[in-house]
Amino acid sequence: MNIDSIQNGVVIDHITAGNGMRLYQLLGLDSLDVSVAIIKNVVSRKMGKKDIIKIDADIPVDFQVIGYVDPGATLNIIRDGQLVSKQAVEMPDRLVGVIRCYNPRCITSTEQELKQIFKLTDREKRVYRCIYCETAAK
Ligand code: ZN
Repeated sequence: MNIDSIQNGVVIDHITAGNGMRLYQLLGLDSLDVSVAIIKNVVSRKMGKKDIIKIDADIPVDFQVIGYVDPGATLNIIRDGQLVSKQAVEMPDRLVGVIRCYNPRCITSTEQELKQIFKLTDREKRVYRCIYCETAAK
């Protein structure tokens, strides 16, 4: 794909350098049958270096995942080759079904049907804790 000429798709910009791959994985982009480009260490005037993810398909993107991994990222929606929307993302207060609690004694380890839910407990330090056992997410 020509990464500069997306006709219909999504561009996640201003990703902190190094976070692109994690975002790609948590968004589940590896399991989608669409063209995705991760561009790493792009020189940015504002940020020094940044990562960019370009998705060459008009798919819904989970805001809570982007806000969790990188609240400074921006989401650009492109239709017919034009930028139609540019949105900042925010750190979500709750994360539902995004990450798993790694505490082996957590109730979610034995009760697999329970939803994995994490709550933002420290906005400044970006700490999320499991609502069942209060273990902090890594
Ligand atoms: Zn837990």
